[in-house]
Amino acid sequence: MNGDRDVCVGGGMCALTAPEVFAQSEEDGLVQVIDPDPGESAEVRRAISLCPAGAISITEISEE
Ligand code: SF4
Repeated sequence: MNGDRDVCVGGGMCALTAPEVFAQSEEDGLVQVIDPDPGESAEVRRAISLCPAGAISITEISEE
């Protein structure tokens, strides 16, 4: 899971939609990824689609 804090506008939709995966920083209100590998659940996909800034995306975790 990737949360781009340079792009995030701090609306909090991701944390409301998938609170096990995303949180908002208490300091600056920007996204924090709390579960880096949650899988592609419907909740995660909904959070990605609802993010107004396009700041969150699924990143592949390489298995090395
Ligand atoms: S929904 Fe997008 S813009 Fe809003 S807090 Fe989450 S990552 Fe940031």
